[in-house]
Amino acid sequence: MSIVGDYHMHTPRCKHATGPIAAYAEAALKLGLSEIGFSDHSPLPDGRGANVRMAPQELPAYVEEVLALREQYRSRLTIRLGLELDFVIGLESFNEKLVTAYPWDYVLGSVHYLDPDCRLSSWPANYRGNHDELFERYFALVRQMARSGLVDVVAHLDVVKRCGTPPGPQHRKLIETTLDEIAHAGVALEINTSGYRHPELRTPEPYPSFNIIAAALQRDIPLQVNSDAHDPSHVGMQFQMVTEQLRRTGCRSLVRFERRERLTYPI
Ligand SMILES: [Zn+2]
Ligand SMILES: [Zn+2]
Repeated sequence: MSIVGDYHMHTPRCKHATGPIAAYAEAALKLGLSEIGFSDHSPLPDGRGANVRMAPQELPAYVEEVLALREQYRSRLTIRLGLELDFVIGLESFNEKLVTAYPWDYVLGSVHYLDPDCRLSSWPANYRGNHDELFERYFALVRQMARSGLVDVVAHLDVVKRCGTPPGPQHRKLIETTLDEIAHAGVALEINTSGYRHPELRTPEPYPSFNIIAAALQRDIPLQVNSDAHDPSHVGMQFQMVTEQLRRTGCRSLVRFERRERLTYPI
């Protein structure tokens, strides 16, 4: 068996992905996937991060569009309804309403911002500050998100390395503490293959890197491989290669979700 689905794909509503959404379904069928899930960037209140996401009032149309596509492809492809939730301190009750308002199959949780106003990116370009502080701050938010009960999957765990400098051996403890919290919270971890197409990574690799994946496996953290597709051509990116590497690392299963129930399948 190999990977059955890709559960991280966006729609043009986020203003930085191309469509139409049916093209993602067609791309998945060509690759032989049996399932896909849309997980577009969640709305935020008061115009926060508005340039890279749908507005709150667009959420019902997003849900309707994905559910209509599900009907259209019912006999050929299972289509899951998901959301990539931005975890932001102070917006817990706003996010709580989002995750309870619709029949999500799963919620991916992401830390894209370091501040409540969503002005500071989690991966500041050409970062000149103190990396220890940056990593501490980022992973502390990830731990809070894992504990929040809002999300089913921690997305792109070490995305902070997009700042140009990946966490090093001196940050091992910080990452292991974060993995301990993820394991304790009982949430899954995403292996996000978009790192293979991000030129700012010195070494093309997934989020998180394979040494972190190995540490996650030691803790029996459930894993899910996703492409974070912002274009239909991204669907299933590097899945074959990642599957082989996962098997070599001792991974025997991955997870998918239906109505927020986690289902495990062998690879
Ligand atoms: Zn995006
Ligand atoms: Zn993301």
